[in-house]
Amino acid sequence: MSKRQALKTLPVASASHSTIHSPMEILNYQFEQAANLIKLEPNLQQLLKEPYRELHVQVPLKHDNGELKIYHGYRIQHNAVRGPYKGGIRFHQDVDRNEVLALATLMTWKTAIVNIPFGGAKGGIAIDPTSLSSKEMQALTRGFTSKIDLIIGPHRDIPAPDVNTDAKVMAWMMDEYGKKHGYTPAIVTGKPIALGGSAGRSEATGRGTVFTIVEACKAYGIELSKATAVIQGFGNVGSFTAKFLRELGCKVLAVTDVKGGVFNANGLDIPALLKYVQKEKTVVGFPGSEPISNDQIFYTKCDIVVPAALGGVLTGDVARKMNCRLIAEAANNPTTKEADEVFYKNNVPVIPDILCNAGGVTVSYFEWAQNLQQYRWTDKQVNDELSKTMRQAFQDVYDLAKKHNISLRTAAYTLAIDRVAEATRLRVL
Ligand code: GLU
Repeated sequence: MSKRQALKTLPVASASHSTIHSPMEILNYQFEQAANLIKLEPNLQQLLKEPYRELHVQVPLKHDNGELKIYHGYRIQHNAVRGPYKGGIRFHQDVDRNEVLALATLMTWKTAIVNIPFGGAKGGIAIDPTSLSSKEMQALTRGFTSKIDLIIGPHRDIPAPDVNTDAKVMAWMMDEYGKKHGYTPAIVTGKPIALGGSAGRSEATGRGTVFTIVEACKAYGIELSKATAVIQGFGNVGSFTAKFLRELGCKVLAVTDVKGGVFNANGLDIPALLKYVQKEKTVVGFPGSEPISNDQIFYTKCDIVVPAALGGVLTGDVARKMNCRLIAEAANNPTTKEADEVFYKNNVPVIPDILCNAGGVTVSYFEWAQNLQQYRWTDKQVNDELSKTMRQAFQDVYDLAKKHNISLRTAAYTLAIDRVAEATRLRVL
């Protein structure tokens, strides 16, 4: 059986599409498929589906104009059987309990797939931070940190950046935590290098994404140096993915950000685009390109599609109109269940988020280890270790997919659930 055929035989779900909507329902469905495949005991299924602890906090913020507003913040700790809870903090208007729970759950599987000694958690505040001043951002971050202080710790739960949070936000979190507990760089990862951050951390998710794309191209017979790609999202993850893909010869035909997008049939000049974005804060208007919208980008005929922004963008309708050979989920949870089935039927392999974008948390692990050891690694050490970890994870998932004739996603879940279940049995049974 060919490698592409191997993807074909995932049993199609019996549940109707219309009954599965929310990110958590999609995740539970994916979980159950894999859990049933490995005949996971029902009590362990229940234990691994539900989060260990949830915290919902009020975050009051006095805006620069004197107005006091109350925002809602969350930290949800899904599982810590294999190590401390780990996962980012997201500032976005769509943040709610259901989304944070789904993202926390994904972190448990992600850390298990790359086999690093962490569990899964996620946090966030329901706010549109784009209109906040730097002073307001800092006050919001410090307020939130002090509210979740009681459940985080360098051996308990270690936050990191996510959508709309960055190294600066991590510096404020570390500083706020340190006021109470003393100097504790290992309390967060993704810090500025000057404060104990790791070489290679800011590039890590994009770099890791490209390592998995390289492996997938080998496995599915795509010549990357002659391939074409489109990337939705040009923040930290999308921009580094574009840079590393281009360095390997792949032409990036289109990219978008929240404001719009740019297209060039001969491939965008990525180094020039990166410079343009630094100045203009958007890809829109990049010289030598045509405009393209966030909806249209997915319909571009190309080899590789990389969603690198928010969840839920690849719906069944979108999937049916796409014309590509490989999907690399640099974003978390970008594909609905219905779209997943369309890709599967059409023989389009999907590198699932929990594998594809695990480079970020992998280098977070290296950062945490460096902080605990009080020892610094070089860029080369970090990137070599990241390469080893990501390639091994891809191989483990791919081999499992081939062995059982299942999709890469089901294989990734199977591998992750198996590892977490084994650790659980050893601890409690
Ligand atoms: N927010 C990133 C993710 O979703 C990184 C998490 C971390 O480094 O802890 O994987």
